[in-house]
Amino acid sequence: MTAELTAQVCVVGGGPAGLTLAMELARRSVSVVVLEQSAHFNRSFRGESVSPDSVWLLDRLGLLDRLAGTYAQMHRMELTDSGRTVLRADFSGFRYPHPYPVELPQPALLSALADAGREHPGYTLRQSATAVGLLREHGDSGPVTGVRARTPDGGITVRAALTVAADGRFSKVREMSGLPYEKLPLDRDVIWLRLPFPADWDRNTYRVRIHGGEHGLFIPTHPDSVRVGLNIPKGGLRQLRAQGPAALHERVDRLAPELSDTVRAHVTTWSDTSMLDIFTTVVPRWSMPGLVLMGDAAHTLTPILGQGVNHAIIDAVTLAPLVEEAFAAGGDGRAALLRAGEEFQRAREESVRLSRALQLRQEHLFSLDTRLGGLLRRALYRVVDRNRALQRRVLARAYFQVQRPGPPVARRIAHSGAAPAAG
Ligand SMILES: Cc1cc2nc3c(=O)[nH]c(=O)nc-3n(C[C@H](O)[C@H](O)[C@H](O)COP(=O)(O)OP(=O)(O)OC[C@H]3O[C@@H](n4cnc5c(N)ncnc54)[C@H](O)[C@@H]3O)c2cc1C
Repeated sequence: MTAELTAQVCVVGGGPAGLTLAMELARRSVSVVVLEQSAHFNRSFRGESVSPDSVWLLDRLGLLDRLAGTYAQMHRMELTDSGRTVLRADFSGFRYPHPYPVELPQPALLSALADAGREHPGYTLRQSATAVGLLREHGDSGPVTGVRARTPDGGITVRAALTVAADGRFSKVREMSGLPYEKLPLDRDVIWLRLPFPADWDRNTYRVRIHGGEHGLFIPTHPDSVRVGLNIPKGGLRQLRAQGPAALHERVDRLAPELSDTVRAHVTTWSDTSMLDIFTTVVPRWSMPGLVLMGDAAHTLTPILGQGVNHAIIDAVTLAPLVEEAFAAGGDGRAALLRAGEEFQRAREESVRLSRALQLRQEHLFSLDTRLGGLLRRALYRVVDRNRALQRRVLARAYFQVQRPGPPVARRIAHSGAAPAAG
């Protein structure tokens, strides 16, 4: 038997985007059902670096206190190329309420968001519920009117004036909607592994190590480990696997020789690693009647400078007041919801475009593996290292788009009433 649920909004996907939006909608008395395919929030190697702007937003949404003890602030970034440190950045020089990125495991973030959502009437989170179809008027071409989902106990139908696709980088809802998109693969993928935190490393520093055309990200991970992201050629996993874990050990030897023993002790099979297929997605239209895309479903980014969770959270706090206003306009709200979806895209896409461009530039620099290319890269990083004003400008583009007064995103959030707590 198929169970029927009705809400003003159905959100597909209980990741950072979907759960932040649902919490914000419920707080604004908009009824919402979230469908999440997973039964739990346990995820590793997923969006743990959270940008200062999102830390600021989480504070303003009243979440940071709930998260106390689950995260660590990062104070510095250090980039080493061919064994020499060529760039040091210190976040303490930024005069914003929250200058530091944090390392916050996703299970803690998602549980806190879900708990905060459940405090509001009109909020329903269904876990183990996988969206498998869209309900549409006039067959396959009309406005979206809800979602069909599969659960271990049978089917569910959720009828909603607005469906939000927050189902991530491989969005099934985007696929089912027929909204066109372009997937742009990068030249390289990333293998992630996790090691115990080295005793003599500073716990509040991001490390980037480059050697020729190889690079590694070494990210302190709360409470006591380090995530290591190593680039490999696109689709090169099979070849690497054929060489056995020794091939990974040797990569770590080249980038961080001080971890040589640790990686051999802790990474003995491929199941100790996780592969990330790196691509970005460009979706020309994020909405259609009855449907809006957000988070990775609307704009998949790469892991460089930890931007995915940030944009997911900013999306949510931007979209929630627009949806609230559309429902407040009365009637069936259809035209107003469509306008809200369009305004949401207008408010957000420039900021996403800037992050994508910054990430692609970094990826290009990391991948230079000729002698001349290496010289150029080191010279460039040294210029940024010495010129503090330039360094601030570069980092501000990645980390301070919202806290910085003036830009459209900040204005919209400031005026939206989305932020009950002081920042
Ligand atoms: C290995 C890895 C490392 C990363 N590291 C970082 C980082 O350090 N910092 C950073 O900012 N970003 C990072 N990212 C990106 C970041 O995880 C995403 O950008 C962010 O989680 C996007 O949030 P989202 O809510 O849009 O999507 P997701 O977090 O992907 O959430 C989508 C949710 O939808 C659910 N879902 C999918 N299909 C269905 C369906 N049919 N029905 C119901 N539910 C469904 C999924 O189970 C999931 O819970 C990383 C990503 C990966 C894969």
